[in-house]
Order: sequence, then C-alpha cells, then structure tokens
Amino acid sequence: MTAVQPSLPDASFGIHAMDGSPLTISPGANATALPCSDNIDSKRVLVVGAGPVGLFLALRLAQSGIKVTVLEKGPHTSELPRACGYAAAVQHEFAKAGIYEKIKEAGGFITAGPCWRKAPVDNGLGGKDNGELVATFKRHIDDPKMPPGSGTLNFPQAQLSELLCKEAVDTGLVDVRFNAELESIQDHGDETGSNKKVRITVKDLILGSSFSLSGLYLVGADGASSTTRKLLKIPFAGHTWDRKLLATDVWIQNYEETLHPTSYVMDPTYFCVITPLTEPKKDADSLWRYTIGLPATASDTSDDELLTAESVESLYEQLMAGPRPLKYRVTNKSVYSIHQRLASTMRRGRILLAGDAAHVCNPIGALGLNTGLLDVMALHETLTMIINEKFPENLLDDYSDERRKAFQMLVDPMSTYNLLRLTYLDIDQATTDDWFFRALKNGNVRTMKMMEKQFTEIWVTNMREIAQVGTTK
Ligand SMILES: Cc1cc2nc3c(=O)[nH]c(=O)nc-3n(C[C@H](O)[C@H](O)[C@H](O)COP(=O)(O)OP(=O)(O)OC[C@H]3O[C@@H](n4cnc5c(N)ncnc54)[C@H](O)[C@@H]3O)c2cc1C
Repeated sequence: MTAVQPSLPDASFGIHAMDGSPLTISPGANATALPCSDNIDSKRVLVVGAGPVGLFLALRLAQSGIKVTVLEKGPHTSELPRACGYAAAVQHEFAKAGIYEKIKEAGGFITAGPCWRKAPVDNGLGGKDNGELVATFKRHIDDPKMPPGSGTLNFPQAQLSELLCKEAVDTGLVDVRFNAELESIQDHGDETGSNKKVRITVKDLILGSSFSLSGLYLVGADGASSTTRKLLKIPFAGHTWDRKLLATDVWIQNYEETLHPTSYVMDPTYFCVITPLTEPKKDADSLWRYTIGLPATASDTSDDELLTAESVESLYEQLMAGPRPLKYRVTNKSVYSIHQRLASTMRRGRILLAGDAAHVCNPIGALGLNTGLLDVMALHETLTMIINEKFPENLLDDYSDERRKAFQMLVDPMSTYNLLRLTYLDIDQATTDDWFFRALKNGNVRTMKMMEKQFTEIWVTNMREIAQVGTTK
C-alpha cells in the first residue's frame, strides 16, 4: 500500500466534504460546521456508512458523550426509495433519542394495521376497483396523540437519514465525512482488548488520495455490500431470491377513503406492497410507495428497461385501482435484488457490524431497517457500558450472538414467509390453508399474543440484562 498522510482536518466537528470544508448534504440537513473544543483523536468511534443505521448509532453514542466520526462514500445521504415503516419497538428507541416527535413534525404519521387483498378488478366503467379483501390485521389506534407504539410510523428512509444526520451533528460530538470511502483495515484490534485501537485507510473520493485514521472501535454500517465485512473476510451465507423488486414513489389522487393504508396485493406473478408516504386523505393527492414484486423472468430484462415509463405504466395498469386513464406522477424509482443472508459473526476484534452489513432480508413486512435500528439499540448500550462504565470487552461477543439470534429465530423465517404468502397460486385456498390468515380471520388471540411476544422478547435485545445473566457462552 502507498504511504498515506493523515489529511483529516481536526479543527471542528460537523458535516464536511473531504477537504474539510463544511458541506450542504441535502435540503433540510444542517450544513453548518459546528465548533468543537476537542481535536479529533483516536478516542472516537469510527462508523462506516451514513445510512440510517450508522447515523442513528452516531446520534445515540454522542448522546452518551462518545465522539464519533462517520465516513460515507456517497456525496450525501441516499435518496433511494427504500424503507418507510417503523415498528413499535423502534418508535420507543426514537422516543428515547428525542426524535419521535420531530419525525412526526417533519411529516411522519401513524397508520393502523395492513390488509391482504387480491389484485384490482375491472369495475365495468373502464376503471378498476380494489381487489377482494383476503385478511386484515385489526390494529386500533386508541390515543389521538399517537404516542410511540400506537401503530406503524410511516416516514421515508431518505428523510429519516437527513433528520438523523442533522440531529447527530447538532450534538457537537459527531463529524460526518462525505466522499470518504473505507479502503482497507490495517489493524482490527485485539479480541481481548489489550490493543485498544483500530486503524484503517480511507480514500478521499474528491482528491483521489488516501489517508489513515484510527479509532477506539469501528462499526461497519456500510450496507449489504459492506466493505468492512468483506475486508474482514466474514462469510455472508444465505441466498438471493430469483425475483427482483421495482419500488416507485408516486403521487395519485385518493378516490375513496383509505381504510387500510398498507395493502399487500397477492399475486403469483406480480405481487405488490402499497404504502402511503404522506398521510392519505379522500379526494386529495398523496404520495404512495408501490413496491412491485417482479417474476423470475424479469431477470432477463435490464434494470434500465424495467424502469422505463412504459414498463412502470403497464405494471400500474395491473395493480392500481381507480378510473382510467390513470393519472399519476412518479418522483422516484429503483430496482432491487433481494436476499436472505446473515454474517457469520458481528464482531471481529474491535470491529462490529450493524444493519444490512450484518444481515439482509426481503423487505416484505418491513423487518430490514427495523432490525438494523434495533442493532443500534443493543450496540449503543454495549459500547456505552464498555467505554463509559468499564464493562469487559467480551460483551461485544454477546452483542453479536444476541443480534444474530434475533435474525435467525425471527427476522429470517418471518420475512421469508411474508414474501411467500403473497405468491400463493390459489389465493382462496390460502385463506383456509395458511395458519396466519386463519388466525387473522378467526381473531385467534393466543396466536396473536404469541407473535407479539416474539417482537418484544426475541427482536429487542436488552444488553444490560445480558450483562447480568450472560448469554450463549
Ligand atoms: C424497496 C425497499 C423497501 C424497504 N422497506 C423497508 C421498510 O419499510 N422497513 C424496514 O425496516 N426496512 C425496509 N427496507 C430495508 C432497508 O432499506 C435497509 O434495511 C436499510 O437501508 C439498511 O440501512 P443501513 O444503514 O444498514 O444500510 P444502507 O442504508 O445501505 O447504508 C449504508 C451506507 O454505507 C455507505 N457505504 C458503503 N460502503 C462504504 C464504504 N466502503 N465506505 C464508506 N461508506 C460506505 C453507502 O453509501 C450507504 O450510504 C426496504 C428495502 C427496500 C429495497
């Protein structure tokens, strides 16, 4: 490797381009470099990736008084159409971080449970009506103030990342560097904790030069193709589905009252998840996410072709209810491959993995980012206990074990069957065969309670409790 000089400016914390100048990341984010009395030093935690997981971790660590440098290879936070629904457990974490109400002020809103339905049908008037209801998840929102946990919190991932970036930087302890790519890892630190340093090389994508950087710990929150995971040669076993997803954000008029904001449209060829991105009101226009499951044969078509206006229009013709000709405005679209994979460990020495870098699942049921944000809950607690309260380093192994268990025991099987459930060949038969549809239909309280328990007892990790009782040693 070529010799590298540390070129990271050490004068202030804030949002920066790699030359150290304050950077406007995207509308809404705080572009002001914040003065900080401390110089950057090796006592910081390094986070690779300014996705929602990396930025939420940076915010939570800073709230515990820990300095963080976030390295992001992109020029700003991602604007791709991805997650938009956050579960009760995550809402409670947002509330602890003081951002639950801020998300609602920025346009986040609560919706009740989803429904499953057949594809839209011709209504004899030239348009289409919503397809027959197959099942509904009856979830009531009792408190008009919508406290955390009232229902699902809807808020686009791109806006969440912007908000998290601003909140993290506003603490004065977080430094976010864009156009900064993790290139190599020189030293991942000692497993026993005797070598208390991580050392990496970072490439400045504007200047084309590289420099080295050290920190107390490093967290790879660099997404499904994680460079951190690959450099550490951590296996990522699992499979890639033969289907792709086409996600589109689209403004349409709401011709009728929205009784079930999120609809899972069941179809063995083209299934679809329809979710609101702005609060839907009858007769008004609102922004919706149409995430369309494409058949395996679509793999023969290039992503560019799948994204043409004609291709999107023909899918909307099948999947969108309402009068014809269709009137809509697409603002964002992207094609995704989908996977079920889990890293063989989420710890190597003083380097940890979190979010998609550690585990990926298909997005049906919104388990991907939610699980990553719950990794943050566990990792924030773990690092705070080790750095601030001198707990032993082996708590990092417990973090890895507990979060991998959450994926293996809940996230992987549940997301897998969430997808398969949308592709039944005989939908009518599915309602009598499938235990989940039968439980919904019959209001089976025991089954529903059992499912709820999994979300509180398996999905969420209380690291303080683990530190007391131990885990799988
Ligand atoms: C269509 C769709 C809908 C979805 N809906 C939901 C949903 O409703 N709810 C839900 O919970 N999940 C959902 N998901 C999943 C969710 O989008 C992901 O789980 C989430 O993006 C993971 O966040 P992350 O921060 O771990 O990774 P990412 O968002 O992928 O961020 C990683 C960041 O790391 C950066 N990076 C990568 N390599 C480097 C490097 N070498 N150096 C520096 N930076 C680097 C990248 O540029 C990126 O900004 C959905 C996904 C899709 C595709």
